Amino acid sequence: MNTSPHILLIYTGGTIGMIKNFETGALIAFDFDKLLSNIPELKQLDCTIDTVSFAAPIDSSDMNVERWKELGDIINARYDNYDGFVVLHGSDTMSYTAAAISFMFENLTKPIIFTGSQLPIGDLRTDAKENLITAVQIAALKEKGRSVITEVGLYFEYKLLRANRTTKINAEHFEAFQSLNYPSLVESGVHLKINKAFLRPANRRKKMVYHTHFDNDIIIVKMFPGINESILKSIFSIDTIKGVILETYGAGNTTTQKWFAHIISDTIKKGIPIINVTQCAAGSVEMGKYDTSVALKKAGVISGKDITTEAAVAKLMYLLGENLPLKVLKTIYETSLRGEMSEN
Ligand code: ASP
Repeated sequence: MNTSPHILLIYTGGTIGMIKNFETGALIAFDFDKLLSNIPELKQLDCTIDTVSFAAPIDSSDMNVERWKELGDIINARYDNYDGFVVLHGSDTMSYTAAAISFMFENLTKPIIFTGSQLPIGDLRTDAKENLITAVQIAALKEKGRSVITEVGLYFEYKLLRANRTTKINAEHFEAFQSLNYPSLVESGVHLKINKAFLRPANRRKKMVYHTHFDNDIIIVKMFPGINESILKSIFSIDTIKGVILETYGAGNTTTQKWFAHIISDTIKKGIPIINVTQCAAGSVEMGKYDTSVALKKAGVISGKDITTEAAVAKLMYLLGENLPLKVLKTIYETSLRGEMSEN
């Protein structure tokens, strides 16, 4: 009997799956059925790999909630048949999708590892092969018959990061992603160094629960000096908005002008959650630390703590989809659900 781990490789699109047509020089989509024969190195891995592709692979700039569900459905339908999943995805919105998938799958006991590349797999200098091969190896890691990684990860340029902690920070360098508020889970050098203390432990007594409802009636408002009162009033008066991510300065600060505080408190009084997320790449929101966030705290703004904007968006859509009363949503939002924020 073949006991080597069974891995499902899912291609959603993005640069990684393209090869150069040597006659025309243009990048063309890779025939995914031929993946294994085109990357013979994959055959040397001690695991069995099956592949499945989106019917119409996309540039990840075209990702949306329907496609998050399409991806989630692929994994959910095969969850019991595989030991781990590797998702090939364009890097541009990978952090958003990976965060969304982390909320969709509650009580994971298997790895779902996202990866991609800055150069196509057919390019001579590609980063795709290392990313793909190591992502598969990590998804296949077992100890005493159980998966070592039991969460959604993002593997890129020698590091496995907790997916819902990541941000794409570079459009040029191979090191495209960072997780500035949480350490790497695995580092790939001569050996794979697993940072066990930072892995999310699986709760094997609980059944995996698959969630699919995302409500995308939300906006992101980014603070900037000179932000305009009448424009902001018009935006907040759109009656279909159900949630707001407010990207604030530093530790969660905004202008102290009265009109701004009124917009915020009136919006919350209408039952619309406002999440305070910092514009800084690292660090946490701490409302009340400065006078410039006291009004927000009083009005009932929800603290995003050290969450990334990417994870904040996915978490807000996910919790709005659960149809919770505002008070409950606030309590749950301020709690770490999948390791996406620090507890304090
Ligand atoms: N624009 C591409 C995408 O996100 C870039 C990449 O694949 O890395 O699909």
